[in-house]
Amino acid sequence: MGEAEADVLVVGGGPAGLSCALLLGRCRRKVVVFDDGRPRNARARGVHGFLTREGMPPHALRWVAREQLAPYDVALHDEKVADVRRCVPRGFEVVLTSGAVVRGKKLVLATGMRDDLPAIEGLEAFYGVTVHTCPYCDGWDHRDRRIAAYAPTDDAVDFALGLTTWSRDVVLFTGGGQGPADVARLTRCGIAVVRERVVGLEGETGRLAAIRLASGEAIPRDAMFVHMGRHQRAPFAERLGLAFDDDHNVVVEDLERAGVPGLWVIGDASRDVQFAIIAAAEGARAAYAINKELRVETCAAWERAATGPDTTDGRARHHDAEE
Ligand SMILES: Cc1cc2nc3c(=O)[nH]c(=O)nc-3n(C[C@H](O)[C@H](O)[C@H](O)COP(=O)(O)OP(=O)(O)OC[C@H]3O[C@@H](n4cnc5c(N)ncnc54)[C@H](O)[C@@H]3O)c2cc1C
Repeated sequence: MGEAEADVLVVGGGPAGLSCALLLGRCRRKVVVFDDGRPRNARARGVHGFLTREGMPPHALRWVAREQLAPYDVALHDEKVADVRRCVPRGFEVVLTSGAVVRGKKLVLATGMRDDLPAIEGLEAFYGVTVHTCPYCDGWDHRDRRIAAYAPTDDAVDFALGLTTWSRDVVLFTGGGQGPADVARLTRCGIAVVRERVVGLEGETGRLAAIRLASGEAIPRDAMFVHMGRHQRAPFAERLGLAFDDDHNVVVEDLERAGVPGLWVIGDASRDVQFAIIAAAEGARAAYAINKELRVETCAAWERAATGPDTTDGRARHHDAEE
């Protein structure tokens, strides 16, 4: 792909980016979506809590979303973005790993997050089947089972207590650290605390049977929920100097604006509850705002051409308020 001009460049083709592209496509905008195929939920067997799509495999959700973009002027470009740059006086450039540059008037970052996982031997084999990060996504499938909360964090107490929504048999593993000071709340709610280091997971075909400690003891558990933290999947928000909250999410303003003219951050990469349906909703919110901004700019240019530069901005804003 050589140099090109798009209305909107969307980096990230997950639920957030594809939803944004869909609505922009229906607004007759020329959109390019870049994606390197590393979604956060790649290891999940199904997407849960997404109205009408309960349990659908994540790749199937994306496939349908991509298929349904076909009627619109939306190009899907499956390549890693190496960098994004602001242009002077306005607009953005996306630089691909191949070196190609694509230009656009607006930029949407929908690059998602990646979860930190503990360095426990064998964890990979269980991840997505009985080891998870999101209780709201996967807690139901382990209801009333023996659940481990693995949380070497300050908010471990709240995380462990949260899991009682799905089971009354919860054990908190601190990962070898001292763990939270306020364990009395856990004790009162019937949650034991294990401070010994976890060295392995036991079970077959992804089905967790026990958690092995450094002493050799194995504590029977059917599922484990990990709470360690997360980071931005891509470095662009940091390079663009955006603001972050304590959980490494980009702080956004009204309708997902990122504090830089022409830039939006949507989905998991920005603040808010990190569910697929919310990522999709944020994509739609941003698309609404972007289309309106482009329309106002176009009308202002028409009015400038017709009547001169001094009379148009106020009218554009007036029309904007009517929408
Ligand atoms: C194991 C697991 C299970 C989950 N289960 C559920 C569930 O059941 N229900 C639910 O609602 N949510 C679930 N989630 C959360 C859900 O995955 C996210 O909320 C959702 O994927 C967010 O969508 P997104 O579009 O913001 O990000 P993502 O889906 O992560 O998409 C971001 C995209 O950006 C691309 N990208 C990043 N950097 C670049 C780059 N430099 N160049 C090109 N492309 C780039 C990535 O390849 C990726 O495809 C789960 C998460 C995990 C980890």
